[in-house]
Amino acid sequence: MKFGGTSLGDGQRISNVCKIIESNRAGNEIVVVVSALSGVTDLLVDTAKKVSLGEVSEEEIKDFIGELLERHRTIAKEVIDGEELEPVMIELEMASVELEKVLIGIGYVGELTPRSHAYVISFGERMSAPIVCGALKSRGIKSAWFTGVEAGIITDSNFERATPLMEHTVKGVREKIQPLLKDTVAVVTGFIAGDLEGRITTLGRGGSDYTASILGAAIDADEVWIWTDVDGIMTTDPRLVKEAKTIPVISYIEAMELAFFGAKVLHPKSIEPAMERGVPVRVKNTFNPAHSGTLIVNEQEKTEEVVKAVSVMEKVALVTISGVGMIGVPGVAAKSFTALAEEGVNILMISQGSSEVNISFVIERRDLKKAVSSIEERFKHTGVVRKVEYNKDVAIIAVIGAGMKGTKGVAARVFTAVAKAGVNVLMIAQGSSEVNISFVVSEKDSKKAAQALHREFIEQ
Ligand code: ADP
Ligand code: ASP
Ligand code: MG
Repeated sequence: MKFGGTSLGDGQRISNVCKIIESNRAGNEIVVVVSALSGVTDLLVDTAKKVSLGEVSEEEIKDFIGELLERHRTIAKEVIDGEELEPVMIELEMASVELEKVLIGIGYVGELTPRSHAYVISFGERMSAPIVCGALKSRGIKSAWFTGVEAGIITDSNFERATPLMEHTVKGVREKIQPLLKDTVAVVTGFIAGDLEGRITTLGRGGSDYTASILGAAIDADEVWIWTDVDGIMTTDPRLVKEAKTIPVISYIEAMELAFFGAKVLHPKSIEPAMERGVPVRVKNTFNPAHSGTLIVNEQEKTEEVVKAVSVMEKVALVTISGVGMIGVPGVAAKSFTALAEEGVNILMISQGSSEVNISFVIERRDLKKAVSSIEERFKHTGVVRKVEYNKDVAIIAVIGAGMKGTKGVAARVFTAVAKAGVNVLMIAQGSSEVNISFVVSEKDSKKAAQALHREFIEQ
């Protein structure tokens, strides 16, 4: 098995992180939240699955662990000097021994539960945090590292998409790490926490941003800084539209909508804890720290632009359930959505035609099979739903901006621009907040649609 990510960027990133901390230390207390080295979480997800399916021998598990350990040790050697290196090497070795045992155990029982899955994927952060801590120490900065739960973050027991129990968390974080901050930089693993019984939970993929926001809220931080590889939140995904530019200031609600609709730069839940305590969030570039990035705040002074950003959410599927038997029958939507909720399927968008002959909704593509079979099962032999159809190659495009509220004609401009680009719209929804208009197109058209909207509203 080979690594998905390259080790090239990681050493550089860690060195940049240390420099950023060094230059901000005077007059500040700092908590640093780290994610896994690039590609490691994906690799752990993939390996855990293969092991549970019996596709990996014990020998191969050992090889995998050897490679994983070697990659971390190489980076540790790159960024840690002197006597600080040895203890980190030992910690890495210990983590790898633990991971090996867990994987071999999963191989034996041939079962991967949400709890054991969370446990396996927690090792990405559990192996990167000691490296960052060691790198700081070797630069003469007093530092200590903690897992999320050691830092006081307590969540419910939804192992794969846990939600923090804020009362416990505020208390825990204030007890466990706040007192140290006067002279110590606390390094905390992002993405992972623990439930009330101390079992490891994860906050959903990309959840390190969420950890930072939870900790920032718990200690009433002056600001939460989220570091990424672009100059802040941009007007659209820069990989799709090269004219994308940084948004200097954005409101919590706009940022939340943008993250919800697929702007990968932020975890969708990461705004909420900071917003609740009024802690400003700033998104900045590790490779260009002098750039002020994007500031996310409560209210923003009146701005000119109606539409601030266009986001594209790929890897989603559109499901339509239909049947004349649905007309006038109450509870079809409720039953369908209950069936989906019981399967843990997250619904991203809903639309019902007023004829009541069909209901459409959008879900993550990976949930499609589960979704279709749970609805078919629920309405079996009832004669209410005749057909469950789906289109798995679709994308959601969302146009976002608080200025749309009360501005007439935005929807007309959106759909005219999209039509002119020759893109067919499959479904439409407008959030009641009026901060977004979102619609569904074929995935092959998503780039064209985003470019057309960016041109219409942003590039003037
Ligand atoms: P990190 O590994 O730093 O957490 P992510 O991969 O999670 O970074 O997210 C950063 C990437 O998100 C950027 O490189 C960019 O390609 C992509 N992205 C998508 N939409 C946006 C947007 N609106 N603004 C900025 N980046 C975006
Ligand atoms: N390492 C986790 C992931 O890949 C969390 C993160 O990167 O934010 O999902
Ligand atoms: Mg991220």
